[in-house]
Amino acid sequence: MDYKELAELLFPHIVTTREDMEKRFPERDLPNRADLPNRANVTRIGPSPTGFVHLGNLYNAIIAERLAHQSGGVFYLRIEDTDNKREVPGAVSTVIQSMAYFGVNFDEGAVADGDHGAYGPYRQRQRKDIYQTFAKWLVQQGKAYPCFLSEEEVSAIRDEQNEKKEDIGIYGKYAEKNRNLTMDEIKEKIGCGEKWVLRFKGSLNSDYIAVEDAIRGKLEMPRNFHDFILLKSDGIPTYHFAHVVDDHLMRSTHVIRGEEWIPSLPIHIELFNEFGWEHPIYCHTATLMKLEGNSKRKLSKRKDPELALSFYQEEGISQDAVWEFLLMILNSNFEEWRIANPFSDYREFSFTLEKMSNSGALVDLDKLRDVSKNVISRMDANEVYEKWFQWCCKYNEEYAALLTKYKDRTIAALKVGRGGEKPRRDIETWKQACQFMSFYYDEKFEIVDTMPEECDENLVRDFFKRYLERIDYNDDSTAWFQKVKELTEEFGFAVKPKDYKKDPSAYKGSIVHVTNMLRVALTGRSNAPDIWDVTHVLGEEMAKERISKWC
Ligand code: GLU
Repeated sequence: MDYKELAELLFPHIVTTREDMEKRFPERDLPNRADLPNRANVTRIGPSPTGFVHLGNLYNAIIAERLAHQSGGVFYLRIEDTDNKREVPGAVSTVIQSMAYFGVNFDEGAVADGDHGAYGPYRQRQRKDIYQTFAKWLVQQGKAYPCFLSEEEVSAIRDEQNEKKEDIGIYGKYAEKNRNLTMDEIKEKIGCGEKWVLRFKGSLNSDYIAVEDAIRGKLEMPRNFHDFILLKSDGIPTYHFAHVVDDHLMRSTHVIRGEEWIPSLPIHIELFNEFGWEHPIYCHTATLMKLEGNSKRKLSKRKDPELALSFYQEEGISQDAVWEFLLMILNSNFEEWRIANPFSDYREFSFTLEKMSNSGALVDLDKLRDVSKNVISRMDANEVYEKWFQWCCKYNEEYAALLTKYKDRTIAALKVGRGGEKPRRDIETWKQACQFMSFYYDEKFEIVDTMPEECDENLVRDFFKRYLERIDYNDDSTAWFQKVKELTEEFGFAVKPKDYKKDPSAYKGSIVHVTNMLRVALTGRSNAPDIWDVTHVLGEEMAKERISKWC
C-alpha cells in the first residue's frame, strides 16, 4: 500500500503539514519568574456545550485557574464541541457566563463573539483542518486507515463480543477486513459515496503503560490495542484525538479532568507517543459525591439540583462562598489556613496538587451554607449590598427596586453587628437575605412570630404605651437599655433571667420576654438583630408606628 497516495486520496484538501502547525502554535514564551518555584503552568478547561454546566466544571476550573495563576502561567477556555449530538444552542454563552459569574478569569480562549488569544480557534469544530493535518500525517505513516464498517456491522460485532465476553471494540480480527483493503477497493468505496471513519492502528502488543498522575500517583494500565476512531465520518475528531492535538499545540502543561477519563488514558498516551510529543501532566480529579444516609453516592443530574452550577446562582449563594467551599474540598489544609487567616482573600491560599485527595469529593450543602455565612459575615456592608443587589437584578426584581429605593437604610441595616471580632452570621444566601432583611421595608414587613406567652394582649398594650412615653429616640443604647430594665421591673418581670429561673412564681417572666416582645413588634420576629440598632435603622417614625399598632 502506498500510504502517501492513500493520504492524498483521503485528504486532498489538506495542504498544511505538521511543521506548519508547530510554527503556527509555537512554544509559549512564558515569564521566567525567579520568585516562583516551578515552571509557569498552562492549563485549561474544556467543557462540552451541552447546556448543562455542572459543579464539576467549576471544581476543575478552580484547580486549573489556581495552578496557572499561582505560577504566572496561562489559563484558557476551550470549547469541546466535537459531539454535535450533545450540543444545545446558546450553550457556549451559558458556559462563558457561568464561569464569569463565579469569577473564573481566563487569559485566553473562547469569548462570546469569537476568540481571544493566539492559540485559537478555541472551538474545536473550527479546528477541523488542524486535526486533519495530523490525521493525514498518520495515514502517511501507515498508522491510520479508513474504516467502512456500517453502524449495523459495528453493532453486530458488539453483540458477538458481548456473547463471547470479549473486549468491546474494533481490534484484531474485527479490524482485519478494513485494515487490509487495497487501494482500488478503497477508491471504489469512496467513489460510491460510502461513509468512512478514520481509525488508528492499535498494536496488538499486550504490555502495560505507566503514567504518573499528579493527584493519584502512578497509574498502570494495559497498553491500548484498539483501532479507535480518530475522525468521525463528518471529518470531526473524537475527544481523544482532539485532546492530544489541542493540548500539544496549545501547549498545556497540565490536563485537569474528571476521573472518568482514566480508562481512555492508554489511547491518549499511544497518540502522544506516536507523534513523538511529551504528554502533559495528568490530574484526574475525584467525582463529586453526596452523602445519603451513611453511604456516599455520585451526584446525579436527575436527582440532585446542586450538581448544576445554575443552582448556586439561583439560590444566590455568593460566588466567594462557592470558591471557598470547593477549595475546602480540594485541599485538606484550606480550613486550617482560613482559621489562621480569617480576613485574607482566598486567592492568597497556596493551592497544591499534593494536598488533593483522590477519593470522592463530598458536596455537603449544610457545610456550604455554613461557609457562606462566614464568608458574608466577613464582607463590609457596602460589599454585601453590592453583591446582593447584583443578584436581585437578575433573580428578584422586586427586591432590586427596594434596594435601590432604600439604599442608605439597607446599608445601615447591613452594618448592624458587622465588623469586629465576632460579626453576626445572619445572611446565608442572597435569596435568604431577601427574607431575613424584609422587616426593614414596610412593603415587606409582616408579623411572623407571636408575642411571648408571658405577655398577654393587655400587658403588651400597656407596656408599649409606657415604652413610647418613656423612651427618647435620642437615648444612646446604654440609656435606652437602662429604661428597658426599669420598665421590665415595673411590669413585674425579672431583669436577670436567672432570677426568674430560680423562682418563676415571683415574676411574670424575664427581660428575655420583654425584649422578644419588642423584637416581634419591630421586626415581626423573635430572632432579630439588636433592638436599639434596628430602631435607629428604621428611624423614629417607622419604629413608633410599628409599636403604636399594639397600643
Ligand atoms: N470535554 C471534556 C468533558 O466535558 C473535557 C475533558 C478534558 O478536560 O479534557 O468532560
